[in-house]
Amino acid sequence: MRKLDTKTIVVASHNAGKIQEIRDLIGPLGFAAKSAADLNFIEPDETGTTFEENATIKALASANASGLPALSDDSGLVIDALGGDPGVYTANWAETADGTRDFAMAMQKVETALEKAGAASPESRTARFVSVLCLAWPDGHTELFRGEVEGTVVWPPRGTQGFGYDPVFQPQGYETTFGEMSAEQKHGWKPGDEQALSHRARAFKIFVETCLEA
Ligand code: IMP
Repeated sequence: MRKLDTKTIVVASHNAGKIQEIRDLIGPLGFAAKSAADLNFIEPDETGTTFEENATIKALASANASGLPALSDDSGLVIDALGGDPGVYTANWAETADGTRDFAMAMQKVETALEKAGAASPESRTARFVSVLCLAWPDGHTELFRGEVEGTVVWPPRGTQGFGYDPVFQPQGYETTFGEMSAEQKHGWKPGDEQALSHRARAFKIFVETCLEA
């Protein structure tokens, strides 16, 4: 297991919502982090079939392009009644004909698929958000960290905070969706805390314990 011995890293992402969340998480630890989007790096094709493969592709692309350690996130919503869809293809479900992303449309697609599957009760709409973070070094070394949070898919969408599918995901044990939570509530973690809530914060906590703590 390799420790991170620099305070300058690249956030290997072009997704504004994710970049913001990773900056929120890493900022209090004293890191300066530019994103792949800030640095105008080309977005690599996500040709993997697992979160781990795609996270590795993204982190290595930014580490190679920058000469710095790079931290990526590959994530998605895994819905039981849909056989695990949209899963690794969660971002693709939001793609429009003109190449932009429309998450209102993507959430409607999920709802239509759940209706088709006859999943009306909360018990039949169980899902989890998964985040796999990859830390890659320019010499090709990689470390992977996975976080998951269980919940249910609700309809209609609720809340305007966060990004992506946040308004339809209600974590287990909560009455509010991620879209109704502040960033702090959604992460549910700050350095030193024993618990985290979001998939990304759970993966991030493992990254901190693995690569930053002595
Ligand atoms: P990718 O990791 O770039 O392939 O994209 C993952 C997609 O999953 C994002 O575009 C979001 O739509 C969705 N997603 C991942 N994490 C979250 C989250 O924390 N909230 C809402 N949507 C998310």
